[in-house]
Amino acid sequence: MTTEQLTPLTFSISGMTCSSCVNSIERAVNEIPGVSASVNFASETLHLLAPSSLDAKTIIKQVKSAGYEARLLEDQSNPALHRKGAARALIAAALFAIPAVAISMVMSWHPAINEWLISTFESYSWPQPPHADHNFVSWLVLAITTPLILFVAWPIHRSALRNIFHPTMDTLVSLGAFSAYFWSIYATYSNTGEPYTEVAAGVLFFVILGRYLESRAKRRASSALSSLLALGEKEVAVMRAGVEVIIPISQLVVGDEFVVKPGSRIATDGVVISGYSSVDNSMITGESVPVEVAPGSRIIGSAMNNNGRLLVRATRVGSDTELARITSMVVTAQGSKTPIQAKADKIAAYFVPIVTVLAAFTFEGWYLFGGKSLTYSISTAITVLVIACPCALGLATPIALLVASGRGAQRGIVLRNPRALEASQTIDVVVLDKTGTLTEGEMSVRDFTLSPSASKVLGSEFSNLLTEKNILSSALALESQSDHPTAKSIATFALAQGAAQLPVDQLTQTPGVGVAARVNISGKSPVVLIGSPVSVAHSCIPFDAEITAAIEKAESNSHAVSVLAWDGVALAVFASGDIVKSDAAATLQELHKRGITTWLVSGDNEQSASNIGSQVGIAATHIIANALPEDKLAKVKAMQEQGHRVLMIGDGVNDAAALAQADLSIAMGSGTDVAMSSADITLMRPQLGAVIEALDLSKKTLSTIKGNLTWAFAYNVIGLPIAALGLATPMYAAAAMAISSLFVVSNSLRLK
Ligand SMILES: [Mg+2]
Repeated sequence: MTTEQLTPLTFSISGMTCSSCVNSIERAVNEIPGVSASVNFASETLHLLAPSSLDAKTIIKQVKSAGYEARLLEDQSNPALHRKGAARALIAAALFAIPAVAISMVMSWHPAINEWLISTFESYSWPQPPHADHNFVSWLVLAITTPLILFVAWPIHRSALRNIFHPTMDTLVSLGAFSAYFWSIYATYSNTGEPYTEVAAGVLFFVILGRYLESRAKRRASSALSSLLALGEKEVAVMRAGVEVIIPISQLVVGDEFVVKPGSRIATDGVVISGYSSVDNSMITGESVPVEVAPGSRIIGSAMNNNGRLLVRATRVGSDTELARITSMVVTAQGSKTPIQAKADKIAAYFVPIVTVLAAFTFEGWYLFGGKSLTYSISTAITVLVIACPCALGLATPIALLVASGRGAQRGIVLRNPRALEASQTIDVVVLDKTGTLTEGEMSVRDFTLSPSASKVLGSEFSNLLTEKNILSSALALESQSDHPTAKSIATFALAQGAAQLPVDQLTQTPGVGVAARVNISGKSPVVLIGSPVSVAHSCIPFDAEITAAIEKAESNSHAVSVLAWDGVALAVFASGDIVKSDAAATLQELHKRGITTWLVSGDNEQSASNIGSQVGIAATHIIANALPEDKLAKVKAMQEQGHRVLMIGDGVNDAAALAQADLSIAMGSGTDVAMSSADITLMRPQLGAVIEALDLSKKTLSTIKGNLTWAFAYNVIGLPIAALGLATPMYAAAAMAISSLFVVSNSLRLK
């Protein structure tokens, strides 16, 4: 049995050129004992869970042995590290590119700038560059642009170099920028032909802008692991020789006895030794009603302890816990998705060599066979390279996603994963969680029954007091003292029904039993008791027929039942339960109308699953109850194997693996971070109707992206022959590139 704590680690990976690299890195790293790893191709990151004792260097070495470079990202909680780098690069690029392009474009400034430079250099007796009287402006633009081309754009050149045998879009950008740059140095130095320095600056600026937007849009789902582990407590109060000692959770071992305070999360899986409480497992198991625990009850680490203090003996710690088991399922499921990014790279693999060869032929054609000058032939070849630069292509997807996520955010829909957009088109099966997804996930009073015959038993002195309002007021007086979810639901219900605040005396709370007190009602002070049917029965005369019937009905609906008694006579029954969201049935109807099949897979019992399922219109044969996290995952997998495209909607830790596995996944924003970071889309509104809006928005975004890509490709296809035939100059190519980029932006802004 391992007692070791698992730590999540994130590495940035470089050197990946295609999606098959993902598999070879994962295979290599997973060979290390105790490690479960997944590589994300799009964000170039490796996420893993490793025993705390394992050194990050071991991982880096293992990645290296597979032929790639890994670097530990220090700030594990912040997957936006890449974004910071991209923002810095964008600012630097703008700082150099904007003045370079401005100075080059406004010809009327040139004589004045030239003169000013010459006089300044003369006054300090600085040496002047060759042909300063004509070309000083060109030298200035070169000087401004050099840091951008050599340093700011270095990551692009590095990637081009590394992938020299598998050319990517970076190869083209690097080649285009360098050819324009070196040509400009030559042209300025020899005073022959036009320099195109600003073209290189402009191309790089647009590419870097595209990268920045992309990194912004890709707020990656990679933090699933961190948020799963953050669910666990960091410290725990352990009993050592009868004294409470606070220790870091990593030092907790099996057999330790630890204290769980009311309102805190349970540190690890264990068995209750002493104390009574109700434990909210809903986020982990999907049970809608809090579970009453007593000595001997098994409890799950990271569940919420509601109202009592518990002493618990740890039975599983670290990598053996329920939470760790779910975590490793999430990791595996996330790794199994194939990125669509691979498609773009496949296209690049053909496009880049074709363009390079075309540029070479263009130069040779004009210089050797067309009898044109060196200047003309080179600038035509550069035009080919610049026109082919995939600026609009690089912007097409991120800008559409950026606009879509802005539009979505206004309506409480957070798009996290661009890969999911395509799936939204083809979804034909929806798998839904119950608690917190179809239902509100909170206890409220569903049924309230008053016994009409009670007044006969209590006698004439109470006959005037036995009104519904007084009975509810007495319930409010007791239940407003408690943190128990059932008590809260009764207090809320009583208040909503107009109950009054009454003075309370001699209040006693017995966890697992109920609350008793003397309540002063218009001069009388009956002993009021609220608790579970069994505990109230102990101190009451036998329940009458109405009370018994109400208890049976509530129990068959799997509601939590509370009985209220005055002076040992049961007067009322409260049935508390979760309620279905108001628009759940309508949303499912809309899904059915679109030809989508719905399934309910719940961790809760059969009764409550079929109860909720029938209320929202899910076929009885499509309801699966008592589902463990792995059952949810298995259901999604099974549907996929039958050729279905599955949308999973959930909110809990128990949904995370299924969310990660599904073709498209939507998490409820009221749920756990784990569910949200495993899902492609998060809904910040509780209404289920947002699911339909999210599907529609994804559909529209995808068609915008397709439109953008078509335009960007068309531009390249039309532009290349025009450039090769010498019908355009590099400046024209740069302008056309800017226009096509602007088209992509404005097309994306049309998204609603
Ligand atoms: Mg749930």
